[in-house]
Amino acid sequence: MAEDKVSTTDSTEIKKEVEPKQAQNEEDGESGEEQPLDIGEHYVVQRSDETWHPAEIIQTRFNDTEQQYEYYVHYEGLNRRLDEWVPRSRVMSSQFNMDAKMSEKMWKEIPVASDVLTDTDRKITRNQKRRHDEINHVQKTYAEMDPTTAALEKEHEQITKVKYIDRIQIGRFEIDTWYFSPYPEEYGSQNKLWICEYCLKYMRLEKSYRYHMGECTWRQPVGKEIYRRGTLSVYEVDGKDHKIYCQNLCLLAKLFLDHKTLYFDVEPFLFYILCEVDKQGAHIVGYFSKEKESPDGNNVACILTLPPYQRQGYGKLLIAFSYELSRREETVGSPEQPLSDLGKLSYRSYWSWVLLEILRDFRGGTLSIKDLSQMTSITQTDIIYTLQCMNMVKYWKGQHVICVTPKLVEEHIKSSQYKRPRLCVDSGALRWTPRRHNKVGAKK
Ligand SMILES: [Zn+2]
Repeated sequence: MAEDKVSTTDSTEIKKEVEPKQAQNEEDGESGEEQPLDIGEHYVVQRSDETWHPAEIIQTRFNDTEQQYEYYVHYEGLNRRLDEWVPRSRVMSSQFNMDAKMSEKMWKEIPVASDVLTDTDRKITRNQKRRHDEINHVQKTYAEMDPTTAALEKEHEQITKVKYIDRIQIGRFEIDTWYFSPYPEEYGSQNKLWICEYCLKYMRLEKSYRYHMGECTWRQPVGKEIYRRGTLSVYEVDGKDHKIYCQNLCLLAKLFLDHKTLYFDVEPFLFYILCEVDKQGAHIVGYFSKEKESPDGNNVACILTLPPYQRQGYGKLLIAFSYELSRREETVGSPEQPLSDLGKLSYRSYWSWVLLEILRDFRGGTLSIKDLSQMTSITQTDIIYTLQCMNMVKYWKGQHVICVTPKLVEEHIKSSQYKRPRLCVDSGALRWTPRRHNKVGAKK
């Protein structure tokens, strides 16, 4: 199905906000003209993994290629990353009343209506399956949050609830997107965007993309290459000098990040782009951004590994790289909050690894949390948090004291949570000096 769509994308026009009334008034007999389901209604909908789940219809659109309506649905109680466009065949005919609060047990017992399934619907792309396996979190309800957070979350949901762009083509990858991103109107309503992997220009049509790829002279990110080790490169790009590139990068990143406010005001930031280099050029793998001056002591604002490169060690390489820069600056830093769920996992794992390595090799003498912080550029708060998770810290006479035995360290190293990074930063390959020493607030 995905392959078919590639060639016909150009002619696909998405009608936004099709009014149910309007459709009703149209003449009968027009190639099976159907009446769309109403926005706001609740149905049981089949998810990509073939399970059925209660969902709310958030938006409808008419797909000209398929000659049918599609529905943007939110699955009750599941992360909004799983919101998606589905064809009518994945919506169970009978509606149900959400007021009659269905328990999990109840909806699990809903029989699978196999007659409404088509073979296409049964196909699950590897990516979708992975998304399902990895990110099946249940969100907090508004009642569980404090009022401010709840209000912000509600506003955030309003802004981000409909994701029109389902897929992007970037370089050799076609990638399913995860979240809404504020591309300009005429681009934002497409279901697929074509993106130049070098200059990050975005296009609506495949033919514009093909033309661009013939014209575009870029083969690497703009800015300065500050790291090269084997096939891996990192470029530093100043948001002030390369505004368009950095804005394009932020728009692209937003497709895969839920919480993110920076899109257009890129000037106060530096961007570090990680690339895999081959004879064609330097292919973007991921990046992190960093405030030039961070009053909160953040050494990372946003961090992302593009989906095709996830789970291969690049995320932790980016994290390690951000701490390497902080070390050169002789300061400590922490990522800006909130982190995405995937970001949190990577950071926790990175911190544990760094600290366990030090504790394992440490011989004699005393080691304070402050020492660890100076050695690693990780903040004392993040160190205490990590040690607490590993049961290695005690609160004694008003302060946190490291409390470990070699046996405890060994146990953690042997545990499944301990993961040695696949890729490490070679500090000798970093050609970079801090812009200026800003020691105010350093060494917290
Ligand atoms: Zn280009």
